[in-house]
Amino acid sequence: MKIPTRLYLSEDEISISWYNIRSYMKDKPEPMLHPGTLQPITVADLSLIFCDESIKQELDDTSPLITIPKDLQTFYRAYRPAPLIRAYFLEKELGTPAEIYYKFEGTNTSGSHKLNSAAAQAFYAKAQGLNSLTTETGAGQWGSAMAMACAYYKLSLTVYMVRSSSEQKPYRKTLIETYGANLVPSPSSTTEAGRKILIEAPNTSGSLGCAISEAVEAAVRTESCRYVLGSVMNHVLLHQSIIGMEVKAAFDKYNVKPDIIIGCAGGGSNLGGLIAPFMGDKIRRKNDIRFVAVEPASCPSFTRGRFAYDFGDTAKTTPLIKMYTLGSDFIPSPNHAGGLRYHGMNPTLSKLYHDGYLEARAEIQSDVFDAAVRFAKVEGILPAPESSHAIKVAIDEALECKRTGDKKVILFGLTGTGYFDMSAYAAHNAKTMSDYVPTDADLAKGFASLPNIPQNR
Ligand SMILES: *Cc1c(COP(=O)(O)O)cnc(C)c1O
Repeated sequence: MKIPTRLYLSEDEISISWYNIRSYMKDKPEPMLHPGTLQPITVADLSLIFCDESIKQELDDTSPLITIPKDLQTFYRAYRPAPLIRAYFLEKELGTPAEIYYKFEGTNTSGSHKLNSAAAQAFYAKAQGLNSLTTETGAGQWGSAMAMACAYYKLSLTVYMVRSSSEQKPYRKTLIETYGANLVPSPSSTTEAGRKILIEAPNTSGSLGCAISEAVEAAVRTESCRYVLGSVMNHVLLHQSIIGMEVKAAFDKYNVKPDIIIGCAGGGSNLGGLIAPFMGDKIRRKNDIRFVAVEPASCPSFTRGRFAYDFGDTAKTTPLIKMYTLGSDFIPSPNHAGGLRYHGMNPTLSKLYHDGYLEARAEIQSDVFDAAVRFAKVEGILPAPESSHAIKVAIDEALECKRTGDKKVILFGLTGTGYFDMSAYAAHNAKTMSDYVPTDADLAKGFASLPNIPQNR
């Protein structure tokens, strides 16, 4: 059968469940710990911070499938199934015998996969009877997604946006405000965590870890308000499994069997979601797919990080998470424009990486932008810098097939569009983009911020 350029699914063929990889893991991820008692975290510990349903999903290591609420299934129909595309033009441009496919999550207003989890979290907040939510955003896609989801479910939202991003991407700020959210550049003087950081480092460009501290603090002190986040946590990865469920359904329909699945990794949610059903099968030895996480060389959590318990935020207020981390004090160099700047990595993916089920690569940003432009010129989509990390490795794998003559089937996640990243593309075009790769001494400073607890010795 000739594979069409778009591998269509009808609305009825979209999954009505999310896929929980953890249920298939023999060795589960380590539990989150309470930072004071160092005991496994309980529902009660988390319920002041997160929505009840998110907590339940966060702690669920056993249910294989979790039904997507009806109302949310309906919402998803507005922009799903997301296109799954055979990259015929890219294959031709590369002259490779490999088959290349990509799942494109950039067709909704957030321009990324983030809306999949934003809508779920807003739905559950509304169902719980909450009035407002707080969150952080780095590059701005999560803030945009949450702003849209809160507009739809009629919740108010405050977004703490990493200062360097709010300066690099002013139109993201406008988009978020257009959907009615309140945007605060972080660090700000509106929270204790922000004020403390401003005293220590008045010229700081901000970090996701710091924005998280501010958003958590604001949620905890506000009545009928909770904090939501768009990456790293297991429940976010669960919501993103809709991506992998759609790919699996389409690949089964068209009888396509992937050899390599590649995704960019910031906190790990799109990659975890894309690979979820395939990884569940791999764990049960039903396939032998290679899974590759691609991260920026300027924020190399997997490839140069430690597998340790760490805080999710700079102010060290969140529960302790066992993950690959650069330390919560780590801040990527300000010349890094490619997103994926979080210091840690999802605990489930961290465990799978540690146990050898997942590979990781780090790429420097000028190579990533070269790959982005090469892709854009033939496939017609200007990719997000984040997504372009996956494109870089997909191209490398396809060129390797050209060298060896292998006809491998390569799938990558095209997580979003780059139309708000014009200053980064401008720097790339003008050849003023620089590649700063942290030295071991830079990383040592981040590692020094790891909690000194028995579990880490
Ligand atoms: C947020 C984002 C990412 C990285 O987040 P993950 O949780 O690692 O998926 C990647 N691509 C785009 C377009 C994003 O918005």
